[in-house]
Amino acid sequence: MQALPALLLSSSLAGLALWKRALTPGGTLLAWALCLLITAVGGGTAFAVLAVTLLGTVAADRFAGERTDPYAVRRKSGSRDTVRVFCNVGAAGCAMVLYAITGWKGFLLSYAGVMAESLADSLASKLGPLSKSPPRDIITMRPIPAGLSGGVSLIGTLSELLGAAVIAGIFSLGTKSAWVFLPVTAAGFLGAMFDSVLGSVLQVKYRCTICGGVTEREIHCGETAIRISGFPWLNNDAVNLLSNLFALVFTLLIAKIV
Ligand SMILES: [Zn+2]
Repeated sequence: MQALPALLLSSSLAGLALWKRALTPGGTLLAWALCLLITAVGGGTAFAVLAVTLLGTVAADRFAGERTDPYAVRRKSGSRDTVRVFCNVGAAGCAMVLYAITGWKGFLLSYAGVMAESLADSLASKLGPLSKSPPRDIITMRPIPAGLSGGVSLIGTLSELLGAAVIAGIFSLGTKSAWVFLPVTAAGFLGAMFDSVLGSVLQVKYRCTICGGVTEREIHCGETAIRISGFPWLNNDAVNLLSNLFALVFTLLIAKIV
């Protein structure tokens, strides 16, 4: 795409993020730069994919409300917001840079796959907690408290499928190729499942010494909780980045085969 339309599109999206206070100024600046890069290289379809992913995430956020996000307060800090943007859009930006250098369409497909995973995961983490029945751990299938990493529910799983299919549909229409729909949907859905597996196995879990509940917080009921599994340094951002990379590699393999 030409420089001026790309600049106008990414600036209006960044302006919207700033106006709606969806991101901090630092996070917005990074999002703007990544958006400009993605739109300049990938054109209107790439921009539409990015815009729908971001708007869908914000919409789900607003729809579900703060109560489904126990970490909402911590997330407001400036530096965390920049890391969050990087971990959610960075892999997609890399795919686009590689496409610009090589011209291989496989990197364009992997861009869509990564964004499908991002929207699938965002929708599931926002809408999943609205489920009436408690989520189950994706590995042990035992009921766990809502909001804990690695939990899956019917609403959450359907949201993942919806998010992945929406991005795949936009990409399929924009590139006028029907076959890309299935691999992009699969990349998004499987990537989001991979996110839950990592959340269950690797993310830190503590047991509260007062109420006995399982939590991701070090302090519970005013006391230091005991670590029962996972790594304290592996946070949600890192898991998001790894899941993005899963979708990236998955779609690259598909592109290599077909
Ligand atoms: Zn407690």
